[in-house]
Amino acid sequence: MTAPPALDDIALPVAASVTAHLDALRTRLQTAGWTNLGFPAATDIDYRPLGRFLGFTLNNLGDPGTDGAYPIHTKSEERAVINVLATLFGLPPDDRWGYVTSGATEGTLYALYLARTLYPGAIVYHSAAAHHSLTTVLELLSLPSITIGVDADGTMDYADLAEQLHAHRQHPAIVVANVGAAGTEALDDITTITTVLTQLNIRRNWIHADAALSGIPLALLPREQRPPGIDFTAGAHSLVASGHKFLGTPVPCAAVLVHARHHAAHARTATYTGSPDTTVSNSRSGLAALCLWYALHTLSLDGHRRRAQQARALAAYTHRQLLELGVPASHRPWAFTVSLPTPPPAVTARWTLASDEGRSTVICMPGIVAPQIDEFLTDIRTALSTPTSGLTAAARHHTGIVVNPTASTPSPGPPPVVRPPAPRAPTADPGAVRAAAL
Ligand SMILES: *Cc1c(COP(=O)(O)O)cnc(C)c1O
Repeated sequence: MTAPPALDDIALPVAASVTAHLDALRTRLQTAGWTNLGFPAATDIDYRPLGRFLGFTLNNLGDPGTDGAYPIHTKSEERAVINVLATLFGLPPDDRWGYVTSGATEGTLYALYLARTLYPGAIVYHSAAAHHSLTTVLELLSLPSITIGVDADGTMDYADLAEQLHAHRQHPAIVVANVGAAGTEALDDITTITTVLTQLNIRRNWIHADAALSGIPLALLPREQRPPGIDFTAGAHSLVASGHKFLGTPVPCAAVLVHARHHAAHARTATYTGSPDTTVSNSRSGLAALCLWYALHTLSLDGHRRRAQQARALAAYTHRQLLELGVPASHRPWAFTVSLPTPPPAVTARWTLASDEGRSTVICMPGIVAPQIDEFLTDIRTALSTPTSGLTAAARHHTGIVVNPTASTPSPGPPPVVRPPAPRAPTADPGAVRAAAL
């Protein structure tokens, strides 16, 4: 056994090397921002005005509804955030509860934990397109689960759901619906899931909406333009929406929402913290809650609506351009996500895409600008037309990428850029908005 190093032997950096380290880190982050097209973090909201709160250890200890004994918190802002989102997702004003979590996974963990308390012996039904993090949640809660098939566009196969529910109808059912599946933004219709449960007379049921990525942008659409069945008005019992995706908070976070009457099953009395221990984590990021509050209040809902609309338009543009290049890409009208066969290595070596099983995604989150997409498209065009790209004709056939002889036809330009009323980085370096902070 080797002895642990003596404290004196651990090289503590001196100030100069810390500065050099941080400079190098900042440079790396700035560079990486421009070529990140695959991971959905918006970069257009400037959170630097909150820099002056980094001098506080903001901890929203315990229940968001009780300020508690620790005074350095942002619970009032957290409650405001929960209220805005609850309204957006159709929770009645007198029957809502929720909190700001560390991310969508914690939100789903809380929601399924509550569902398990209310319905012991329940089985979880989720589609094959459910996010991988659900596996961890199911394991932590020891919940049995059944995977439901998906149809060609990634939506839950409701006939399969009905069959499985029927086969296990003596058990309570927890159904996890994708309100925007990762990689495609496919939507499971909560109205249809509710109907299936009603028809099978499974009364002990719970529907959880995983709306991590697409929830907020979809909920911002005027009611008549919204896809059906995405929230509480369609029968959801719980919903999680991420903060670091559409709102691009500098700290990963999410909000989980439920009916207060259901949350009552987890009522607790206050501890030494002065606040009931009703959340999954005990100490919680008050900075995350403040960032969400800032994002929701610094831009009007109309401002956020425009951000979403502009991102969708850029996604549609990306889709059209890829089709013109002969790349069989797909895109749903409400989505920021464009799915394509994984491009040649010359492209993936430079651009960060999310890739899985031969498909890759480009996600046009707010903050991605047309010049970035055009540069990416140029690299795709070059790779497809360069015999030395390493992609043989056979490999091109295999990945589904073919060079379109009409590709040189000029196509309509990128959508006009409608700037949200927030300070932006120079377009040449959007990563700098974030990285230049503080
Ligand atoms: C991103 C995402 C998650 C995971 O969210 P975390 O905040 O990383 O825990 C879950 N579900 C969907 C649909 C997602 O897009």
